[in-house]
Amino acid sequence: MGPDDIISSLRNGARMGRVFAEHVPLHCICGVREEERREPLSLFADIAANYDMAQCLAGDRIEDALDYSALASQTVTFAEKTQFRLLEKLADALCRHLLISFPRALSLQIRLQKNTAKWSGGGTSFSCSLTGRRSLAILGLGSNLGDRGCAIEEATERLATVPHCRPLRRSSLHRTAPLLRTDQPEFFNEALLLETLLSPMELLAEMQSIERAMGRLRIERYGPRPIDIDLLLFEGFVSSSAALTVPHPGLRLRRFWIEELADLGLSIVPQSDSVLGQRCELVGAHRDFAGRRSN
Ligand code: ADP
Ligand code: MG
Repeated sequence: MGPDDIISSLRNGARMGRVFAEHVPLHCICGVREEERREPLSLFADIAANYDMAQCLAGDRIEDALDYSALASQTVTFAEKTQFRLLEKLADALCRHLLISFPRALSLQIRLQKNTAKWSGGGTSFSCSLTGRRSLAILGLGSNLGDRGCAIEEATERLATVPHCRPLRRSSLHRTAPLLRTDQPEFFNEALLLETLLSPMELLAEMQSIERAMGRLRIERYGPRPIDIDLLLFEGFVSSSAALTVPHPGLRLRRFWIEELADLGLSIVPQSDSVLGQRCELVGAHRDFAGRRSN
């Protein structure tokens, strides 16, 4: 199992399938040309939604299925209320709206096609396709300045109010000795599993804005801090840039993160000792976790 799909093992995708709502007619203001901004344009939407069908296959009940006719009608109502210049913006807004309205959908692919016959005088059509998904992410929260327990609590509460983020589960609170600079107070650490519609960079920006709001000043690296929020894992995402390295480079080295991940349902097999703690191999989730998710 690679680092990019380790976190996906927390999902209980027993019978992944896809439903489609195609050729859904929409009328909305969308375009940059003057004539497109004067009156609603006609568009067609094709929507494909991926979800776990295990429950509806077991019972054959509409309540357990992702209702594709509701998918189509919500698309129509939402599009009517929007005014975008770019088809891309409309597709993105629609995608996020549908992911919020249909919590069963793990990912959505939307294709919007402009019927341009009216002003192009021919059969040319333009379209735009976009995929959006709800992703799982694990954040590592730490504090070793001021009221550390309170800071962890406050950061968790603030994360719960970030738009398009939904905390699912917290690890237990761990007290840990500082690792790289030992002349500073003990840390309180906790890991948080959340589901998000944000991209990894958008999530990082939200985490950093919470750090700033809680008085985090980046004066000295590895120095004491009222709050530190690190992105440990993000579903389907691997990056090694300086601005964002995921999985977090310390993940396999810090024993407390390994224990906190275990609290969240990710089982990890220790391999051999390293300087900072225990070097580990990420192997996947305990199966019993999936049942505890709320959708
Ligand atoms: P540290 O957490 O190592 O003590 P900081 O919190 O001050 O350090 O973060 C320093 C920089 O690390 C940030 O500007 C951020 O862009 C970058 N960074 C890279 N990868 C990550 C990650 N996975 N999580 C959080 N920050 C990261
Ligand atoms: Mg940090």
